[in-house]
Amino acid sequence: MPVQEIRLLGDPVLRTPAAPVTTFDKELRNLVRDLRETMLDAPGAGLAAPQIGVSLRVFTYDVDDAEGHLVNPVLVTMSEEQQDGDEGCLSLPGLNFPLKRSANVVAAGFNMYGDPVTIEGSEVLARCLQHETDHLDGVLFIDRMDTPRRRAALRALREAPWAQDGAPRVKISPHAAPNPFR
Ligand SMILES: [Zn+2]
Repeated sequence: MPVQEIRLLGDPVLRTPAAPVTTFDKELRNLVRDLRETMLDAPGAGLAAPQIGVSLRVFTYDVDDAEGHLVNPVLVTMSEEQQDGDEGCLSLPGLNFPLKRSANVVAAGFNMYGDPVTIEGSEVLARCLQHETDHLDGVLFIDRMDTPRRRAALRALREAPWAQDGAPRVKISPHAAPNPFR
């Protein structure tokens, strides 16, 4: 079953720095497949392995005509030039908040076969590459906000239906019947 449950804010795996991939085997290829299927099913612009409960440094992305994956990514270039715009996360469903990010980045890593890969991104792809790399360090986009924006975001988070009852860990199936948050 390739489509996996997406972990939500409150799940400790989202706050755990992920381990580097050391073996480029079938298991890794299955993980990339699961990430891709789950991302496309959601749908989302990107998905990092911790979001499906796997603490490894892998993510997939799907922005405009750029779709792919990256293993052990490193942001080798981040422009000083910034962009400002709305950002969301499948682990915080239904919530979008404005966030400043570098306008252009270069991410280096490997594909699932262990070949070196470099991805240059601007605008939405640059935002996505920064967001997904952050996930692998246990960092969420709400952590990157300045104080006023963060305060507003936390207020909205408290009111999010999926965050009610103080549940520290909430799991939903991507196939759960009608999801009002998308
Ligand atoms: Zn995210």
